[in-house]
Amino acid sequence: MTKNSPSKVTMEKMVSLCKRRGFIFQSSEIYGGLGSCWDYGPLGIELKRNIKEAWWRSMVRNRDDVVGLDSAILMAPQVWVASGHAQGFTDPLVECRKCHLRYRADTVQDDKCPSCGGELTEPRQFNLMFKTFMGPVEDSASLVYLRPETAQGIFVNFQNVQVALRKKLPFGIAQIGKSFRNEITPGNFVFRTREFEQMEMEFFVKPGTDQQWFSYWVEQRLNWYQELGIKPQNIRLRPHGRDELAHYASCCSDVEYLFPMGWSELEGIADRGDFDLAQHAKHSGKSLEYFDEESGEHYIPHVIEPSAGVDRSALAFLLDSYDEEADKDGTRVVLRLHPALAPIKVAVLPLSRKEELAKVAREVHADLRNCFMTQYDDTQSIGRRYRRQDEVGTPFCVTVDFQSLEDHQATIRERDSMAQIRVPLAKLKQTLVTKLGGETFGTQQLWSSTAKDAGQTTSA
Ligand code: ATP
Repeated sequence: MTKNSPSKVTMEKMVSLCKRRGFIFQSSEIYGGLGSCWDYGPLGIELKRNIKEAWWRSMVRNRDDVVGLDSAILMAPQVWVASGHAQGFTDPLVECRKCHLRYRADTVQDDKCPSCGGELTEPRQFNLMFKTFMGPVEDSASLVYLRPETAQGIFVNFQNVQVALRKKLPFGIAQIGKSFRNEITPGNFVFRTREFEQMEMEFFVKPGTDQQWFSYWVEQRLNWYQELGIKPQNIRLRPHGRDELAHYASCCSDVEYLFPMGWSELEGIADRGDFDLAQHAKHSGKSLEYFDEESGEHYIPHVIEPSAGVDRSALAFLLDSYDEEADKDGTRVVLRLHPALAPIKVAVLPLSRKEELAKVAREVHADLRNCFMTQYDDTQSIGRRYRRQDEVGTPFCVTVDFQSLEDHQATIRERDSMAQIRVPLAKLKQTLVTKLGGETFGTQQLWSSTAKDAGQTTSA
């Protein structure tokens, strides 16, 4: 077993850690839970925010050719007719004639209900979109859907954004937001849920340049996960076979992660051609053509779409960073999260609760919290506090001890190596900024590449 291999962690262990340490709780737990909905606790929300922030930084902020958008979850119902979701976003379902449980047709063998052995119906198409009603009257005229993807909000705003920002091809529009799918077989913790968050970008290109941009985005997206710490042996690309492609897509590759249940999709990157814009032009009656000043042509741009899930990414980063190692008290559990993703960057730990120590520690904390997401912890022994921070992936602990009162220095302890260095209080903040950015700690090279701006102002 290699160090940090995914086999060290089962999904059960991860679910338990997430609950115990405040990452993820089951939704409505005190009422017995609600099927496949999850609530992100204080640490989970920081992790999710950091993932979204890292995506936004790489997709929008650090680029000249991509801009952002936040479109509404509720959209005109015609959008879903034009996109094909109203007719085609379906799974074939079978129902047990006895206990009435429903299953996705491709998940049952031998025509018997897996629960009670009853006879199953013929498969029927089931639409995965959640319905609700807009306004006071619940009739078919007021029917609206909760969006099953964020992408359509981008397509219907293509022209608004292009004109307002005077964007020239190629350019992209990125969006992060909630999506809803009434999945038939949700499960595997937050891997497949009915309410989830997506990070999607539609990159509009001149027809004929699709292949070059498709290859570019596949490489960019795979690198993004690896730069944030996913081990190369746990991530791969899987190009779709001809028979798997949606009718409008000319090529598609999934980024897959080796989850405990096996290789599964983390993100899909597709060349969607002009399908979406052409459909919206047809159904809305509005021209969505682009005027190419260079060539003097009018055409509908083609689209390359990298579409990722925040929740699946969070799960992959948690699983991949999980490690256990033997120590004198048994087992040390540590999340070796990239510092840009770690929910807490720095924990401040006074060695004792004595007032003279606590005063200095609180001053240190007040100074650091302006700069990083921090936590102040003065409960239980210092050893247990270190272990707690290791288990939630905190890269650095700052310990204030009695000697600090005399020499005005504190100890910085690094999570992965457990190495400690002594630093003047006046230099703590700068030292931590540098170290969170990937400088060597003792003899060890800490994080590289994208860690550069990790330690700055990701705090809430
Ligand atoms: P799958 O085949 O696993 O159902 P999909 O191909 O339908 O996924 P897309 O429509 O391509 O997924 O959505 C893009 C991304 O959104 C997925 O790669 C995934 O990360 C995320 N996603 C989609 N459905 C869910 C879900 N039910 N729960 C959590 N994340 C999801």
